[in-house]
Amino acid sequence: MQFLRKLFGSGFQTMSAAEKVGVKCRDCGHSNTISRYTPPFGTQLVCAHCNKPLLLRVNDPRERPYATSREVQLFFGYTGCSLLHARCPHCSETNYSIVIPEQAYNVSFYWNRKQENPNAAFVVNTACQHCKKAFVIEWDEDPR
Ligand SMILES: [Zn+2]
Ligand SMILES: [Zn+2]
Repeated sequence: MQFLRKLFGSGFQTMSAAEKVGVKCRDCGHSNTISRYTPPFGTQLVCAHCNKPLLLRVNDPRERPYATSREVQLFFGYTGCSLLHARCPHCSETNYSIVIPEQAYNVSFYWNRKQENPNAAFVVNTACQHCKKAFVIEWDEDPR
């Protein structure tokens, strides 16, 4: 019994607490929690309160709409991914820091309200932080 509690009881709580890290938003001061480990593709690493990018400084997302895997590793400690700043196809607001595969910003891609190419090699589903509507980012060639 003691053994089982050790295995399933307190062990789980300790584990889930350790999987999150607190990050304070530079722009509004809101306390956010993010995963300690590389999050799934489509996750947006933004402040839950003001939608600004967490940890990274983004100057003009139209000039450079991505963060490299090296930057992601440096700021977040995540491996195997890069970040994309995409304009919502519904409301045109910028959605910062969407987790995509490493190097995926180097392969041609586009974003749409719904998947347009039924033969797309790779699709990332996400939702706008501003209008809450879902949209997709799709690659004709698999970027992974
Ligand atoms: Zn904020
Ligand atoms: Zn939107």
